[in-house]
Amino acid sequence: MIKLQSIEKSYSVGGNSLKVLKGINVDIEKGEMVSIMGSSGSGKSTLLNILGILDDYDAGSYHLNGQLIQHMNETQAAKLRNQFIGFVFQSFNLISFKNAMENVALPLYYQKVPRKKRNSLAMEYLEMVGLSAWANHMPNELSGGQKQRVAIARALISQPKMILADEPTGALDTQTSYEVMSLLKDINSKGITVVIVTHEHDIAEMTQRTIRLKDGLIV
Ligand code: ADP
Ligand code: MG
Repeated sequence: MIKLQSIEKSYSVGGNSLKVLKGINVDIEKGEMVSIMGSSGSGKSTLLNILGILDDYDAGSYHLNGQLIQHMNETQAAKLRNQFIGFVFQSFNLISFKNAMENVALPLYYQKVPRKKRNSLAMEYLEMVGLSAWANHMPNELSGGQKQRVAIARALISQPKMILADEPTGALDTQTSYEVMSLLKDINSKGITVVIVTHEHDIAEMTQRTIRLKDGLIV
């Protein structure tokens, strides 16, 4: 599903070039659940952003489902993201003035799905994450774990082939983290590829395989 070959990425910082990824080779098969570990600043988010076609890379190649992902314009990238990828972030990224159901329905709004249809689908996905009773609640009325479940339902509603999660448990206590991981495992068991960035060992251990990043390389 994912094939990265010799991926390099630098940022320019104050006139200097900071090389963050120095030749990354990674293969992730369809249906795998893998974690990417590394210390803070090791390039985990940079790598995940490349996988999510949110950012370009400088050298090497990235194939997603056999298709070369390179120098895409925003329209092409958005189309592929809609088709393939659901995102989950540490800070949930819910819209504060929309309720749980509307947040889950949001990707379908952008796909111009009529309101009735998108709301009924959103209810199905809220049900799947155990939150149908909270549909009309606003994000500030939800716990961290509930917010992350809403975010996961939102990631799933466009039926992605792969979920990319950047520190999805980073803002949660241990018990809630395990609940969110268990939900991600359920999703993976339905055949969706799951890639989780984390710096927590116990979280990484809940995945099938860990990819370790150090000094811009896989170790
Ligand atoms: P991680 O997610 O592992 O903490 P990041 O991928 O966010 O690491 O960052 C890796 C390095 O690249 C860090 O030194 C960070 O400061 C730098 N960096 C990340 N994004 C940018 C950016 N947009 N511009 C400049 N430097 C960046
Ligand atoms: Mg990061």
